[in-house]
Amino acid sequence: MKLTFLGTAAAEGLPAVWCNCSVCRKAKEMGGIEFRTRSQILIDSKLLVDFPMDTYMHMLTHKFDLSAIDSVLITHAHMDHCYPQEFVLHGEPFAHGMTEPKITVYGNATVAESFESATRAELKPEIAPSVPMKKVEPFDCFTTESGYKITALPAVHTAGEQCLFYAVEHCGKTALLFNDSGILPNETYDKMAKLGLKFDLVSFDCTYGHAKHGKGRHMGALDADGERDKMKECNLVHNGTKYVLTHFSHNCNLTHSELCKKEKDYGFTVAYDGMTVEI
Ligand SMILES: [Zn+2]
Ligand SMILES: [Zn+2]
Ligand SMILES: [Zn+2]
Repeated sequence: MKLTFLGTAAAEGLPAVWCNCSVCRKAKEMGGIEFRTRSQILIDSKLLVDFPMDTYMHMLTHKFDLSAIDSVLITHAHMDHCYPQEFVLHGEPFAHGMTEPKITVYGNATVAESFESATRAELKPEIAPSVPMKKVEPFDCFTTESGYKITALPAVHTAGEQCLFYAVEHCGKTALLFNDSGILPNETYDKMAKLGLKFDLVSFDCTYGHAKHGKGRHMGALDADGERDKMKECNLVHNGTKYVLTHFSHNCNLTHSELCKKEKDYGFTVAYDGMTVEI
């Protein structure tokens, strides 16, 4: 399984869209690896995790075939993860010679509402069947068109919405992808263990940078370190498991290279836009 971290920023992007703080000014000067777009992960060429407004830019930058994607797993309805308006263009006369005729969008009830309201005015009836929206609940297991086995898991993120994150299994390898979540109750890890999940890669929300936030709706690297310990206790990971940090805010006050220096001793890989990892 090849994972490409297409975007690695929190909602504001980095440099943040309206910001002139020192980190954002430095990122603008340095460019390149210091630019972070809104979070999205491409798995092989068939599956996307999250669908932010930067999806189109990700296609331009990384030159992949967006029409080859047959499934999108949306974690929650926040604007940096869910931009359903783009799906109204999925078919003739807006797109020709598409690789896949259909793309299934998976998400919670709030994502389904957002999908419905964002596409109501412009989704043509002849395109609608090519973009089915499927509602998902915590601990649902399903298989995508290309045979990826997905387990939806309950995130700790925002009141009034059952935010999700996903375990993705294919060809004997499993990735656990957190976007967005604070630290999880032990009960969630126990349930993952009962489902027999074992992860070859875990990517963590790292909105707070090199920090311990404790209880909250996001994590810092030191929270992720604690979550990794819980995973080890529950036998959910192994000696070769890879650990990645993503979804960074400019409020971390750290450049990419500064983050890399801090996380090296913790065995975390700091994601950047376009980074690929194979498991
Ligand atoms: Zn987010
Ligand atoms: Zn800033
Ligand atoms: Zn969010």
